[in-house]
Amino acid sequence: MSKPEMLNFINGEWVKSKSETIGDVWNPAKGEKIATVRYGTRDDVDLAVKAAKEAFPEWRETPPLARARYLFRLKEAFEDNFEEIARVLTTEQGKIIDEARGEVRRMIENVEHATGVTTLMTGYTLEDIARGIDCLGHRQPMGVFAAIVPFNFPGMVPWWFMPYALVCGNTYVVKPSEQVPMTQTKIFEIMEEAGFPEGVVNMVHGSKDVVNGLLDHPDIEGISFVGSTPTAKYIYKRCGETGKRVQALGGAKNVVAVMPDAALDTDSCAPNAGTSSCIPNAVASFFGCSGQRCLAGAILAPVGDRADEIVKQFLESARAIKVGDGLNEDTGMGPVAGAAHQKRVLDYIEKGIAEGAELLLDGRDCKVEGYPDGYFVGPTVFDKVTPDMSIAHDEIFGPVVSIIRCQDLDGVIELVNTRKFANATSIYTSNGKTAREFKYRVKPSMVGINIGIAAPMSFFPFGGAGNSFFGDIKGHGQEIFQFFTDTKVVIQRWL
Ligand code: NAD
Repeated sequence: MSKPEMLNFINGEWVKSKSETIGDVWNPAKGEKIATVRYGTRDDVDLAVKAAKEAFPEWRETPPLARARYLFRLKEAFEDNFEEIARVLTTEQGKIIDEARGEVRRMIENVEHATGVTTLMTGYTLEDIARGIDCLGHRQPMGVFAAIVPFNFPGMVPWWFMPYALVCGNTYVVKPSEQVPMTQTKIFEIMEEAGFPEGVVNMVHGSKDVVNGLLDHPDIEGISFVGSTPTAKYIYKRCGETGKRVQALGGAKNVVAVMPDAALDTDSCAPNAGTSSCIPNAVASFFGCSGQRCLAGAILAPVGDRADEIVKQFLESARAIKVGDGLNEDTGMGPVAGAAHQKRVLDYIEKGIAEGAELLLDGRDCKVEGYPDGYFVGPTVFDKVTPDMSIAHDEIFGPVVSIIRCQDLDGVIELVNTRKFANATSIYTSNGKTAREFKYRVKPSMVGINIGIAAPMSFFPFGGAGNSFFGDIKGHGQEIFQFFTDTKVVIQRWL
Protein backbone atom coordinates (compact mmCIF):
# COMPACT_ATOMS: atom_id res chain seq x y z
CA MET A 1 0.00 0.00 0.00
CA SER A 2 1.37 3.41 -0.89
CA LYS A 3 2.24 5.67 2.01
CA PRO A 4 0.74 9.15 2.43
CA GLU A 5 3.01 11.96 1.32
CA MET A 6 3.29 15.07 3.48
CA LEU A 7 2.71 18.21 1.40
CA ASN A 8 3.72 21.82 1.86
CA PHE A 9 1.06 24.36 2.78
CA ILE A 10 1.61 27.57 0.84
CA ASN A 11 -0.79 30.46 0.24
CA GLY A 12 -3.75 28.51 1.59
CA GLU A 13 -3.15 25.44 -0.58
CA TRP A 14 -1.57 22.01 -0.23
CA VAL A 15 1.35 21.99 -2.65
CA LYS A 16 3.69 19.23 -3.79
CA SER A 17 7.36 20.24 -3.89
CA LYS A 18 9.21 19.60 -7.14
CA SER A 19 12.11 18.20 -5.13
CA GLU A 20 13.19 14.67 -6.02
CA THR A 21 14.63 14.01 -2.57
CA ILE A 22 12.13 11.93 -0.66
CA GLY A 23 12.53 10.85 2.95
CA ASP A 24 10.67 8.21 4.93
CA VAL A 25 8.69 8.81 8.09
CA TRP A 26 8.80 5.96 10.62
CA ASN A 27 6.71 4.56 13.40
CA PRO A 28 9.58 4.02 15.88
CA ALA A 29 7.64 1.52 18.01
CA LYS A 30 7.14 -0.77 15.02
CA GLY A 31 10.22 0.11 12.98
CA GLU A 32 7.87 0.59 10.06
CA LYS A 33 7.67 3.23 7.32
CA ILE A 34 4.37 5.08 7.55
CA ALA A 35 4.66 8.11 5.28
CA THR A 36 7.00 10.01 2.99
CA VAL A 37 8.09 13.61 2.82
CA ARG A 38 9.82 15.53 0.06
CA TYR A 39 12.78 17.57 1.25
CA GLY A 40 11.91 21.00 -0.14
CA THR A 41 14.24 23.36 -1.95
CA ARG A 42 14.90 27.08 -2.01
CA ASP A 43 12.16 27.34 -4.65
CA ASP A 44 9.62 26.10 -2.12
CA VAL A 45 10.92 28.60 0.43
CA ASP A 46 10.68 31.40 -2.14
CA LEU A 47 7.05 30.50 -2.86
CA ALA A 48 6.11 30.41 0.81
CA VAL A 49 7.91 33.66 1.67
CA LYS A 50 6.37 35.41 -1.35
CA ALA A 51 2.89 34.34 -0.20
CA ALA A 52 3.62 35.45 3.37
CA LYS A 53 5.02 38.78 2.20
CA GLU A 54 1.99 39.49 0.02
CA ALA A 55 -0.39 38.60 2.86
CA PHE A 56 1.39 40.88 5.33
CA PRO A 57 -0.07 44.35 4.52
CA GLU A 58 -3.70 43.26 4.86
CA TRP A 59 -3.02 41.07 7.91
CA ARG A 60 -1.09 43.83 9.60
CA GLU A 61 -4.04 46.22 9.22
CA THR A 62 -6.46 43.67 10.66
CA PRO A 63 -7.09 44.95 14.23
CA PRO A 64 -5.30 42.93 16.94
CA LEU A 65 -8.57 41.80 18.49
CA ALA A 66 -9.80 40.57 15.10
CA ARG A 67 -6.50 38.69 14.67
CA ALA A 68 -6.99 37.18 18.12
CA ARG A 69 -10.42 35.91 17.04
CA TYR A 70 -8.70 33.59 14.54
CA LEU A 71 -6.82 32.14 17.50
CA PHE A 72 -10.04 31.66 19.48
CA ARG A 73 -11.41 29.67 16.54
CA LEU A 74 -8.15 27.78 16.29
CA LYS A 75 -8.25 26.83 19.96
CA GLU A 76 -11.72 25.36 19.50
CA ALA A 77 -10.58 23.44 16.42
CA PHE A 78 -7.58 22.07 18.34
CA GLU A 79 -9.80 21.05 21.28
CA ASP A 80 -12.17 19.26 18.89
CA ASN A 81 -9.26 17.34 17.37
CA PHE A 82 -7.16 17.00 20.52
CA GLU A 83 -6.96 13.21 20.67
CA GLU A 84 -6.32 12.83 16.96
CA ILE A 85 -3.32 15.19 17.08
CA ALA A 86 -1.95 13.31 20.11
CA ARG A 87 -2.28 9.95 18.36
CA VAL A 88 -0.51 11.10 15.20
CA LEU A 89 2.23 12.54 17.38
CA THR A 90 2.79 9.29 19.27
CA THR A 91 2.66 7.26 16.08
CA GLU A 92 5.51 9.12 14.41
CA GLN A 93 7.52 10.27 17.43
CA GLY A 94 7.13 7.38 19.86
CA LYS A 95 6.42 9.18 23.14
CA ILE A 96 3.64 7.69 25.23
CA ILE A 97 0.13 8.89 24.51
CA ASP A 98 -0.23 10.76 27.80
CA GLU A 99 2.96 12.68 27.06
CA ALA A 100 1.60 13.48 23.60
CA ARG A 101 -1.62 14.74 25.21
CA GLY A 102 0.45 16.91 27.52
CA GLU A 103 2.32 18.28 24.53
CA VAL A 104 -0.90 19.16 22.69
CA ARG A 105 -2.21 20.84 25.84
CA ARG A 106 0.95 22.99 26.03
CA MET A 107 0.53 23.87 22.37
CA ILE A 108 -3.02 25.08 22.99
CA GLU A 109 -1.92 27.06 26.04
CA ASN A 110 0.28 29.16 23.78
CA VAL A 111 -2.68 29.90 21.53
CA GLU A 112 -4.61 30.93 24.63
CA HIS A 113 -1.83 33.15 25.94
CA ALA A 114 -1.37 34.86 22.58
CA THR A 115 -5.00 36.01 22.61
CA GLY A 116 -3.96 38.51 25.31
CA VAL A 117 -2.49 40.64 22.51
CA THR A 118 -4.54 43.73 23.34
CA THR A 119 -2.67 44.10 26.61
CA LEU A 120 0.58 42.31 25.78
CA MET A 121 1.38 44.17 22.55
CA THR A 122 0.72 47.67 23.80
CA GLY A 123 3.45 50.29 23.66
CA TYR A 124 3.78 53.27 25.98
CA THR A 125 3.56 57.03 25.79
CA LEU A 126 4.70 60.06 27.75
CA GLU A 127 3.29 63.53 27.37
CA ASP A 128 5.45 66.62 27.66
CA ILE A 129 8.86 65.05 27.20
CA ALA A 130 9.62 68.70 26.48
CA ARG A 131 7.15 71.58 26.62
CA GLY A 132 4.34 70.78 24.16
CA ILE A 133 6.06 67.68 22.84
CA ASP A 134 4.72 64.14 23.35
CA CYS A 135 6.39 60.80 22.79
CA LEU A 136 4.60 57.64 21.64
CA GLY A 137 6.17 54.19 21.54
CA HIS A 138 4.27 51.80 19.25
CA ARG A 139 4.90 48.12 18.76
CA GLN A 140 4.60 47.32 15.08
CA PRO A 141 4.67 43.97 13.29
CA MET A 142 7.63 43.60 10.96
CA GLY A 143 6.77 41.15 8.17
CA VAL A 144 7.60 37.49 7.66
CA PHE A 145 9.03 35.31 10.45
CA ALA A 146 9.94 31.61 10.38
CA ALA A 147 10.45 28.68 12.77
CA ILE A 148 12.86 25.76 12.39
CA VAL A 149 12.08 23.03 14.90
CA PRO A 150 13.33 19.68 16.30
CA PHE A 151 12.03 16.11 16.29
CA ASN A 152 11.22 15.67 19.95
CA PHE A 153 8.18 17.96 20.29
CA PRO A 154 6.72 18.01 16.76
CA GLY A 155 3.39 19.44 17.88
CA MET A 156 4.19 22.06 20.48
CA VAL A 157 7.46 23.73 19.59
CA PRO A 158 6.34 25.77 16.54
CA TRP A 159 3.54 27.08 18.77
CA TRP A 160 6.02 28.56 21.23
CA PHE A 161 6.40 31.23 18.54
CA MET A 162 3.79 31.14 15.78
CA PRO A 163 0.64 32.30 17.64
CA TYR A 164 2.51 35.32 19.00
CA ALA A 165 3.98 36.22 15.61
CA LEU A 166 0.57 35.98 13.99
CA VAL A 167 -1.37 37.84 16.62
CA CYS A 168 1.18 40.66 16.46
CA GLY A 169 0.35 41.01 12.75
CA ASN A 170 3.28 39.16 11.16
CA THR A 171 2.97 36.32 8.66
CA TYR A 172 4.71 33.00 9.05
CA VAL A 173 6.59 30.02 7.59
CA VAL A 174 7.21 26.83 9.61
CA LYS A 175 9.74 24.14 8.78
CA PRO A 176 8.96 20.99 10.80
CA SER A 177 11.61 18.38 11.52
CA GLU A 178 11.91 16.09 8.51
CA GLN A 179 11.83 13.12 10.92
CA VAL A 180 8.33 13.92 12.19
CA PRO A 181 6.41 15.95 9.60
CA MET A 182 3.02 14.30 10.15
CA THR A 183 1.98 16.05 13.36
CA GLN A 184 2.37 19.58 12.04
CA THR A 185 0.72 18.51 8.78
CA LYS A 186 -2.28 17.30 10.80
CA ILE A 187 -2.24 20.58 12.75
CA PHE A 188 -2.21 22.62 9.55
CA GLU A 189 -5.17 20.61 8.23
CA ILE A 190 -7.06 21.51 11.39
CA MET A 191 -5.90 25.12 11.11
CA GLU A 192 -7.82 25.43 7.89
CA GLU A 193 -10.96 25.46 10.07
CA ALA A 194 -9.83 28.74 11.63
CA GLY A 195 -9.88 30.31 8.17
CA PHE A 196 -6.70 32.36 8.27
CA PRO A 197 -6.38 34.51 5.12
CA GLU A 198 -4.25 32.94 2.37
CA GLY A 199 -0.52 33.32 2.86
CA VAL A 200 -0.67 34.26 6.54
CA VAL A 201 0.53 30.80 7.66
CA ASN A 202 2.70 28.53 5.53
CA MET A 203 4.63 25.31 6.01
CA VAL A 204 7.57 23.98 4.03
CA HIS A 205 8.90 20.49 4.72
CA GLY A 206 12.53 19.57 4.31
CA SER A 207 15.96 19.71 5.87
CA LYS A 208 19.12 21.77 5.32
CA ASP A 209 18.16 23.30 1.96
CA VAL A 210 14.95 24.69 3.38
CA VAL A 211 16.77 25.93 6.49
CA ASN A 212 19.43 27.67 4.41
CA GLY A 213 16.76 29.08 2.10
CA LEU A 214 15.05 30.64 5.11
CA LEU A 215 18.28 31.91 6.63
CA ASP A 216 19.38 33.58 3.39
CA HIS A 217 16.01 34.96 2.35
CA PRO A 218 16.05 38.77 2.33
CA ASP A 219 12.33 38.98 3.10
CA ILE A 220 12.50 37.06 6.36
CA GLU A 221 12.77 39.34 9.40
CA GLY A 222 13.52 36.80 12.08
CA ILE A 223 14.05 33.13 12.90
CA SER A 224 12.99 31.11 15.92
CA PHE A 225 15.05 27.93 16.17
CA VAL A 226 14.90 24.97 18.53
CA GLY A 227 17.25 22.01 18.14
CA SER A 228 20.74 20.80 18.99
CA THR A 229 23.49 23.18 20.04
CA PRO A 230 25.69 22.82 16.91
CA THR A 231 22.71 23.72 14.69
CA ALA A 232 21.64 26.50 17.07
CA LYS A 233 25.12 28.05 16.83
CA TYR A 234 25.04 27.79 13.05
CA ILE A 235 21.61 29.46 12.88
CA TYR A 236 22.66 32.21 15.27
CA LYS A 237 25.79 32.98 13.24
CA ARG A 238 24.00 32.94 9.88
CA CYS A 239 21.22 35.19 11.17
CA GLY A 240 23.88 37.61 12.40
CA GLU A 241 25.43 37.64 8.93
CA THR A 242 22.12 38.23 7.18
CA GLY A 243 20.86 40.73 9.78
CA LYS A 244 17.88 38.83 11.09
CA ARG A 245 16.42 38.69 14.54
CA VAL A 246 17.10 35.30 16.09
CA GLN A 247 16.28 33.20 19.09
CA ALA A 248 18.11 29.86 18.99
CA LEU A 249 17.41 27.27 21.69
CA GLY A 250 19.94 24.44 21.89
CA GLY A 251 20.73 21.23 23.76
CA ALA A 252 20.91 20.32 27.42
CA LYS A 253 22.52 18.17 30.11
CA ASN A 254 20.41 18.73 33.18
CA VAL A 255 21.45 17.88 36.72
CA VAL A 256 18.83 16.70 39.20
CA ALA A 257 20.09 17.03 42.78
CA VAL A 258 18.57 15.07 45.65
CA MET A 259 19.54 16.39 49.08
CA PRO A 260 19.60 14.10 52.12
CA ASP A 261 16.63 16.03 53.51
CA ALA A 262 14.50 15.43 50.39
CA ALA A 263 11.09 13.89 50.96
CA LEU A 264 12.21 10.32 50.48
CA ASP A 265 9.75 8.91 52.95
CA THR A 266 6.59 10.89 52.31
CA ASP A 267 4.23 11.23 49.39
CA SER A 268 4.50 15.01 49.32
CA CYS A 269 5.91 15.18 45.80
CA ALA A 270 5.07 11.82 44.34
CA PRO A 271 3.31 12.02 40.99
CA ASN A 272 1.07 9.01 41.62
CA ALA A 273 -1.00 8.05 44.61
CA GLY A 274 0.44 5.10 46.44
CA THR A 275 4.11 6.04 46.06
CA SER A 276 5.99 7.00 49.16
CA SER A 277 8.84 9.16 47.94
CA CYS A 278 9.85 12.07 45.71
CA ILE A 279 11.98 9.62 43.73
CA PRO A 280 9.26 8.60 41.22
CA ASN A 281 8.92 12.28 40.35
CA ALA A 282 12.68 12.44 39.70
CA VAL A 283 12.55 9.20 37.71
CA ALA A 284 9.89 10.67 35.43
CA SER A 285 12.27 13.53 34.72
CA PHE A 286 14.91 11.12 33.40
CA PHE A 287 12.79 8.63 31.51
CA GLY A 288 9.78 10.67 30.39
CA CYS A 289 9.74 10.95 26.58
CA SER A 290 12.51 8.31 26.70
CA GLY A 291 14.90 11.03 27.88
CA GLN A 292 14.37 12.97 24.65
CA ARG A 293 13.44 16.25 26.28
CA CYS A 294 15.56 19.35 26.64
CA LEU A 295 14.27 19.48 30.21
CA ALA A 296 15.01 15.82 30.97
CA GLY A 297 17.23 14.94 33.88
CA ALA A 298 20.50 13.49 32.61
CA ILE A 299 22.68 13.53 35.73
CA LEU A 300 21.34 12.32 39.06
CA ALA A 301 23.30 13.93 41.88
CA PRO A 302 22.51 12.38 45.26
CA VAL A 303 24.02 14.61 47.91
CA GLY A 304 25.48 13.57 51.27
CA ASP A 305 24.99 10.50 53.40
CA ARG A 306 21.71 9.17 52.02
CA ALA A 307 23.10 8.62 48.53
CA ASP A 308 22.89 4.81 48.66
CA GLU A 309 19.26 4.95 49.75
CA ILE A 310 18.45 7.48 47.01
CA VAL A 311 20.14 5.34 44.35
CA LYS A 312 18.37 2.20 45.58
CA GLN A 313 14.94 3.85 45.41
CA PHE A 314 15.74 5.38 42.03
CA LEU A 315 16.73 1.99 40.61
CA GLU A 316 13.59 0.34 41.94
CA SER A 317 11.42 2.94 40.22
CA ALA A 318 13.43 2.80 37.00
CA ARG A 319 13.17 -1.00 36.84
CA ALA A 320 9.39 -0.80 37.15
CA ILE A 321 8.98 1.23 33.95
CA LYS A 322 7.13 -0.72 31.28
CA VAL A 323 8.67 -0.11 27.86
CA GLY A 324 6.48 -0.46 24.78
CA ASP A 325 4.35 1.15 22.12
CA GLY A 326 3.32 4.62 23.28
CA LEU A 327 -0.18 4.12 21.92
CA ASN A 328 -0.89 1.50 24.60
CA GLU A 329 -2.25 3.30 27.64
CA ASP A 330 -0.26 1.14 30.08
CA THR A 331 3.13 1.84 28.49
CA GLY A 332 5.47 3.81 30.74
CA MET A 333 8.17 4.62 28.19
CA GLY A 334 8.13 4.48 24.40
CA PRO A 335 10.93 3.87 21.89
CA VAL A 336 13.60 6.42 20.97
CA ALA A 337 13.01 8.37 17.80
CA GLY A 338 14.53 6.06 15.18
CA ALA A 339 17.34 3.75 14.12
CA ALA A 340 20.05 6.43 14.00
CA HIS A 341 19.05 7.80 17.36
CA GLN A 342 18.93 4.33 18.90
CA LYS A 343 22.48 3.72 17.67
CA ARG A 344 23.65 7.03 19.12
CA VAL A 345 22.22 6.19 22.54
CA LEU A 346 23.62 2.63 22.50
CA ASP A 347 27.04 3.99 21.49
CA TYR A 348 26.98 6.28 24.51
CA ILE A 349 26.21 3.34 26.77
CA GLU A 350 29.29 1.58 25.36
CA LYS A 351 31.29 4.74 25.95
CA GLY A 352 30.16 4.89 29.57
CA ILE A 353 31.30 1.31 30.10
CA ALA A 354 34.64 2.04 28.39
CA GLU A 355 35.13 5.12 30.54
CA GLY A 356 34.81 3.00 33.68
CA ALA A 357 31.35 3.94 34.94
CA GLU A 358 29.43 1.18 36.70
CA LEU A 359 26.37 0.00 34.77
CA LEU A 360 23.66 -0.60 37.38
CA LEU A 361 20.78 -0.96 34.95
CA ASP A 362 21.40 -2.00 31.35
CA GLY A 363 18.81 -1.03 28.73
CA ARG A 364 20.78 -2.21 25.70
CA ASP A 365 18.99 -5.42 25.01
CA CYS A 366 15.45 -4.17 25.46
CA LYS A 367 12.89 -6.49 23.87
CA VAL A 368 9.21 -5.64 23.60
CA GLU A 369 6.85 -8.50 22.86
CA GLY A 370 5.06 -8.06 19.55
CA TYR A 371 7.39 -5.22 18.47
CA PRO A 372 10.55 -6.95 17.26
CA ASP A 373 11.62 -4.06 15.02
CA GLY A 374 10.94 -1.16 17.40
CA TYR A 375 13.72 1.25 18.36
CA PHE A 376 13.67 0.57 22.06
CA VAL A 377 16.31 1.31 24.65
CA GLY A 378 15.42 0.37 28.22
CA PRO A 379 16.06 2.55 31.27
CA THR A 380 19.82 2.65 31.78
CA VAL A 381 21.63 3.81 34.90
CA PHE A 382 25.35 4.36 35.41
CA ASP A 383 26.82 4.87 38.86
CA LYS A 384 30.33 6.10 39.74
CA VAL A 385 30.34 8.58 36.91
CA THR A 386 32.93 11.34 37.24
CA PRO A 387 32.27 14.91 36.07
CA ASP A 388 34.88 14.71 33.30
CA MET A 389 33.47 11.60 31.55
CA SER A 390 31.76 12.12 28.21
CA ILE A 391 28.54 10.64 29.63
CA ALA A 392 28.64 13.44 32.20
CA HIS A 393 29.15 16.17 29.61
CA ASP A 394 27.59 15.23 26.28
CA GLU A 395 23.90 15.36 25.58
CA ILE A 396 22.89 11.72 25.00
CA PHE A 397 19.18 12.50 24.59
CA GLY A 398 18.00 9.06 25.61
CA PRO A 399 16.99 7.08 28.72
CA VAL A 400 20.51 6.99 30.16
CA VAL A 401 21.22 8.32 33.66
CA SER A 402 24.65 9.24 34.96
CA ILE A 403 24.90 9.24 38.74
CA ILE A 404 27.46 11.62 40.21
CA ARG A 405 27.51 11.63 43.98
CA CYS A 406 28.21 14.99 45.62
CA GLN A 407 29.31 15.72 49.16
CA ASP A 408 27.36 18.88 49.77
CA LEU A 409 25.39 21.73 48.24
CA ASP A 410 28.52 23.56 47.08
CA GLY A 411 29.64 20.40 45.29
CA VAL A 412 26.37 19.96 43.45
CA ILE A 413 26.22 23.64 42.45
CA GLU A 414 29.73 23.31 41.06
CA LEU A 415 28.67 20.23 39.12
CA VAL A 416 25.72 22.13 37.62
CA ASN A 417 27.78 25.19 36.75
CA THR A 418 30.61 23.25 35.08
CA ARG A 419 28.37 21.55 32.50
CA LYS A 420 28.66 22.99 28.97
CA PHE A 421 24.90 23.38 28.82
CA ALA A 422 22.80 25.47 31.17
CA ASN A 423 19.23 24.70 30.23
CA ALA A 424 17.50 23.39 33.36
CA THR A 425 18.24 21.90 36.75
CA SER A 426 16.25 20.66 39.73
CA ILE A 427 16.74 20.12 43.42
CA TYR A 428 14.77 17.98 45.84
CA THR A 429 15.00 19.27 49.39
CA SER A 430 12.81 20.08 52.35
CA ASN A 431 15.01 23.01 53.37
CA GLY A 432 13.99 26.43 52.08
CA LYS A 433 17.41 27.95 52.62
CA THR A 434 19.07 25.18 50.61
CA ALA A 435 16.53 25.63 47.82
CA ARG A 436 17.08 29.38 47.76
CA GLU A 437 20.86 29.04 47.70
CA PHE A 438 20.59 26.56 44.83
CA LYS A 439 18.26 28.63 42.63
CA TYR A 440 20.30 31.77 43.36
CA ARG A 441 23.67 30.36 42.35
CA VAL A 442 23.01 27.92 39.49
CA LYS A 443 23.52 29.03 35.89
CA PRO A 444 20.64 27.23 34.10
CA SER A 445 17.62 29.45 33.61
CA MET A 446 14.89 26.90 34.27
CA VAL A 447 15.00 25.63 37.86
CA GLY A 448 12.78 23.07 39.55
CA ILE A 449 12.40 22.88 43.31
CA ASN A 450 10.92 19.50 44.24
CA ILE A 451 9.87 19.32 40.56
CA GLY A 452 11.87 17.23 38.12
CA ILE A 453 10.74 18.92 34.91
CA ALA A 454 10.91 22.68 35.30
CA ALA A 455 8.81 23.51 32.23
CA PRO A 456 7.73 27.15 32.11
CA MET A 457 4.13 27.54 31.00
CA SER A 458 3.25 29.65 27.99
CA PHE A 459 3.06 32.88 29.99
CA PHE A 460 6.68 32.56 31.23
CA PRO A 461 9.80 32.48 29.05
CA PHE A 462 11.23 29.13 27.93
CA GLY A 463 14.94 28.81 27.25
CA GLY A 464 18.29 28.30 28.91
CA ALA A 465 21.69 29.94 29.21
CA GLY A 466 25.27 28.97 28.30
CA ASN A 467 25.42 26.63 25.33
CA SER A 468 21.70 25.98 25.59
CA PHE A 469 20.55 29.33 24.24
CA PHE A 470 21.78 31.91 21.75
CA GLY A 471 19.96 35.22 21.59
CA ASP A 472 18.23 37.33 24.18
CA ILE A 473 14.47 36.88 23.94
CA LYS A 474 13.41 33.31 24.74
CA GLY A 475 10.41 31.24 23.70
CA HIS A 476 6.88 32.39 24.67
CA GLY A 477 6.35 34.42 27.87
CA GLN A 478 5.55 38.11 27.80
CA GLU A 479 8.84 39.12 26.18
CA ILE A 480 8.04 37.26 22.96
CA PHE A 481 5.82 40.18 21.98
CA GLN A 482 9.04 42.20 21.74
CA PHE A 483 10.67 39.63 19.47
CA PHE A 484 7.82 39.87 17.01
CA THR A 485 7.50 43.66 16.96
CA ASP A 486 9.61 46.70 16.27
CA THR A 487 9.32 49.54 18.74
CA LYS A 488 8.64 52.68 16.78
CA VAL A 489 9.05 55.89 18.73
CA VAL A 490 7.17 58.96 17.53
CA ILE A 491 8.09 62.36 18.96
CA GLN A 492 5.42 64.87 18.07
CA ARG A 493 4.74 68.57 18.37
CA TRP A 494 1.65 70.26 16.94
CA LEU A 495 2.16 73.92 16.15
P1 NAD B 1 18.72 19.21 15.13
O1 NAD B 1 19.58 20.36 15.48
O2 NAD B 1 19.35 18.04 14.48
O3 NAD B 1 17.55 19.67 14.12
C1 NAD B 1 16.72 20.77 14.43
C2 NAD B 1 16.26 21.40 13.11
O4 NAD B 1 17.39 21.91 12.41
C3 NAD B 1 15.56 20.43 12.19
O5 NAD B 1 14.43 21.07 11.63
C4 NAD B 1 16.60 20.09 11.14
O6 NAD B 1 16.04 19.88 9.87
C5 NAD B 1 17.49 21.32 11.12
N1 NAD B 1 18.91 21.00 10.90
C6 NAD B 1 19.60 19.98 11.46
N2 NAD B 1 20.89 20.01 11.08
C7 NAD B 1 21.02 21.09 10.26
C8 NAD B 1 22.12 21.66 9.55
N3 NAD B 1 23.33 21.14 9.61
N4 NAD B 1 21.89 22.75 8.80
C9 NAD B 1 20.67 23.32 8.75
N5 NAD B 1 19.59 22.81 9.40
C10 NAD B 1 19.77 21.72 10.15
O7 NAD B 1 17.94 18.80 16.45
P2 NAD B 1 17.01 17.52 16.65
O8 NAD B 1 17.86 16.32 16.70
O9 NAD B 1 15.87 17.57 15.72
O10 NAD B 1 16.41 17.81 18.11
C11 NAD B 1 17.02 17.42 19.31
C12 NAD B 1 17.76 18.56 19.93
O11 NAD B 1 16.87 19.65 20.18
C13 NAD B 1 18.36 18.21 21.27
O12 NAD B 1 19.66 18.74 21.32
C14 NAD B 1 17.46 18.92 22.27
O13 NAD B 1 18.07 19.25 23.49
C15 NAD B 1 17.09 20.13 21.50
N6 NAD B 1 15.89 20.76 22.02
C16 NAD B 1 16.04 21.89 22.74
C17 NAD B 1 14.93 22.51 23.29
C18 NAD B 1 15.10 23.75 24.11
O14 NAD B 1 14.10 24.32 24.52
N7 NAD B 1 16.31 24.20 24.38
C19 NAD B 1 13.66 21.96 23.09
C20 NAD B 1 13.54 20.80 22.32
C21 NAD B 1 14.68 20.21 21.79
